[in-house]
Amino acid sequence: MPWFKRVEKGISTPTEEKKETPDGLWYKCPTCKAVTSMAEHRKNMNTCVKCNYHDRIGSKEYFAILFDDNAFTELDANMTSGDPLNFVDTKPYPNRVVATEKATGLKDAVRTGYGNLNGLPITIACMDFAYIGGSMGSVVGEKIARAIDHARKTRTPFLMISKSGGARMMEAGFSLMQMAKTSAKLALLSEEKLPYISLLTDPTTGGVTASFAMLGDFNIAEPGALIGFAGPRVIKETIGKDLPKGFQSAEFVLEHGFLDFIVDRKELKNRLSDLLSMLESKDAVADSKTARAAKLS
Ligand SMILES: [Zn+2]
Repeated sequence: MPWFKRVEKGISTPTEEKKETPDGLWYKCPTCKAVTSMAEHRKNMNTCVKCNYHDRIGSKEYFAILFDDNAFTELDANMTSGDPLNFVDTKPYPNRVVATEKATGLKDAVRTGYGNLNGLPITIACMDFAYIGGSMGSVVGEKIARAIDHARKTRTPFLMISKSGGARMMEAGFSLMQMAKTSAKLALLSEEKLPYISLLTDPTTGGVTASFAMLGDFNIAEPGALIGFAGPRVIKETIGKDLPKGFQSAEFVLEHGFLDFIVDRKELKNRLSDLLSMLESKDAVADSKTARAAKLS
């Protein structure tokens, strides 16, 4: 009997017979490494049950969270990008558009729609990071502009959910024009005294931060979201100094006066409807005051 010799091999299961956990059954938090079931994670609105890390989600998830019974009418669902500059990087831009649409099921980096939020009619535009880094090209700008027009036409509040790496390189100058266009439309919305709430989610950077994302009557953000214009590396190299801890996190940006408040995704819907009802009643008070003043004069 061989006491000190291993006769049988330790593990002899061939690869094809190994039992794997099916992909997408478990979620591991990238911050605290806690593991939960995907179902639990989804039920928790894609936030970590242990450390409350807010996982990135897209328009599909935000619409499901915010619109009552996930019922909404999508605007300009089929608008797609042209290739005004015949742009080629590692591949031609039209090929990238087709490949991205196939991989994500999205037509561009923003979806817009209207419906009810806790019974209050609202128009929402929500960006998708999965589509070329949530970059802002002419379709993104145009859809946002049209969503604002819809809010003006129906006299409903407008909510913008930003999540973007900035302007879309492949449309160069055309992308930058969207900053002016969306800002001008928001000015009209403001003139018509309709509320605009801007929710900044992880990450909100570049031309998006430099235009519509920071123009809200209320600028709010999700916890831990990266919010900035240029990236930390570029800034560090430019100023030649180390950056403070937590630089460009939502908490840092709030502390420096650029945000009104940070909202947990699980409380988002109710916080929004509270805020909107408050603005509505304030508006009603203002209206009755104007009416009373008119009567007195
Ligand atoms: Zn965690």
